[in-house]
Amino acid sequence: MAEPFKLPTLKYSYDALEPYIDAKTMEIHYTKHHAAYIANLNKALENFPQLQEKTIEELLSNLESIPTEIRQAVINHGGGHYNHSLFWEIMSPTSTKLPTEKLLSEIVKTFTSFENFKFEFSKAATSRFGSGWAWLVVDKDSTLKVVSSANQDSPISQGQKPILGLDVWEHAYYLNYQNKRADYIEAFWNIIDWVEVEKRFQS
Ligand code: MN
Repeated sequence: MAEPFKLPTLKYSYDALEPYIDAKTMEIHYTKHHAAYIANLNKALENFPQLQEKTIEELLSNLESIPTEIRQAVINHGGGHYNHSLFWEIMSPTSTKLPTEKLLSEIVKTFTSFENFKFEFSKAATSRFGSGWAWLVVDKDSTLKVVSSANQDSPISQGQKPILGLDVWEHAYYLNYQNKRADYIEAFWNIIDWVEVEKRFQS
C-alpha cells in the first residue's frame, strides 16, 4: 500500500513538556493517535493515486474536489494529521511565554490586550462541547480570530490560516488531568512556541 503521508518528526522528547503535558500522554498521543490518523488517511487515498500526490493543505482546502466516498475520511483523518502536525510544532519546552512584537501588537489591536485574547481563546477551548479544537486563525479578511472546531475539522477547510491550536479531545489530557479540562488549558500557556506561531502568522 502506498504511504504518501508519514508521521512527522517531533522536535522534542516525550517528557520535554512536563509537567504541563506528561510523557505518557505525549507518547500515546503521537505514536498511537496521530499515527492512526495517518494510517487511515493513507488507506482512504489507496485507490486515488492522483490525490496521493497532493499535500495535506491542498487536500483540506479543496474538500469539494475530494470524491464523496472518501471525503469524510479525508476530513477526519486528514484533518487529524494536519491538526496534530501543527499542534506539535507550536509547542516548545522553552516557551517565551509571550508572542513576539509584531504578533503581540496585532493581538492587542484585535483583542484589546493579551490577557483578553487569552481569556477568549481559553473560553473557546473550555466551551467546545465534546471533542474538538480551539484555534487562533488569520481569517480570509486578514484579521485574527479565535474559533473552535468539532472533531478533526480544520480551519484550513474554511479558508482560514490556523497559527495556534489546542487539542481538547479527552485523549489529549485525560491521563494527567482527568475531567479538569480547564487546568490543561491553563497549563498550555506555559509551553506555546510563540516563535513558531509568529512564523505562521507572517507566512
Ligand atoms: Mn489529539
